[in-house]
Amino acid sequence: IIRVEGMHKWYGDFHVLKDLNLTVRHGERIVICGPSGSGKSTFIRCINRLEEHQQGKIIVDDVELTDDVRQIDSVRREVGMVFQHFNLFPHLTVLENCCLSPIWVRKTPRKEAEATAMEYLERVKIPDQANKFPGQLSGGQQQRVAIARALCMKPKIMLFDEPTSALDPEMIKEVLDVMIELAGSGMTMLCVTHEMGFAKTVADRVIFMDGGEIVEEAPPHDFFTNPQEPRTQKFLKQIL
Ligand code: ATP
Ligand code: MG
Repeated sequence: IIRVEGMHKWYGDFHVLKDLNLTVRHGERIVICGPSGSGKSTFIRCINRLEEHQQGKIIVDDVELTDDVRQIDSVRREVGMVFQHFNLFPHLTVLENCCLSPIWVRKTPRKEAEATAMEYLERVKIPDQANKFPGQLSGGQQQRVAIARALCMKPKIMLFDEPTSALDPEMIKEVLDVMIELAGSGMTMLCVTHEMGFAKTVADRVIFMDGGEIVEEAPPHDFFTNPQEPRTQKFLKQIL
């Protein structure tokens, strides 16, 4: 469902992503890890075209990402994204946050959008918060709203960029539980995270990035017990 081939990206003179290659099939769960500044966020932002690449190919759901604005919109509709800092609209209620894109982008009637939003808010276990504003919620609750909001667009793929790293420890589990449940439902997921417990239980493959390159890619068992590359070994020593 995602194919990246020989992809490069520069910020000005800075070569941030170097010859990335990745294939993600329907229903696969991929975890991306690596040191700060290695290009993880830039990489997943390229996949829903929050960033442009300059060389190589990115194909999402059979559409190649180019400069054509129309297909950028179509790709964004199919790809949900959850950020580290939630990025909810502070002046809208939880329910309104969830309904905004379905109503304006998908042209879903409001009643139907609200019903769908309530379904997903139930799934992330906060239907009782629907009429509050984001500022009235805990970090863990806000992140679960962000996940529900992305799911309301019925995406084919979900991208996560360190969804738990801004959360207090006691709230991490409630967000990971939602992500584990989502993985169990068969969603295709690409997650940047350093939650190695999540990687071990959920991921089909773990990708290690360093210096803008994919250094190593392996199923979690091999990745954690028998990393091949010295840079991966060093990284794992630091975080485990
Ligand atoms: P972290 O774990 O800290 O989130 P990361 O792996 O997600 O790091 P990126 O945010 O993708 O790393 O950044 C990769 C590199 O690109 C960094 O060196 C960063 O300084 C640089 N960079 C990121 N965004 C920009 C930008 N808009 N303009 C110029 N350089 C950028
Ligand atoms: Mg990042």
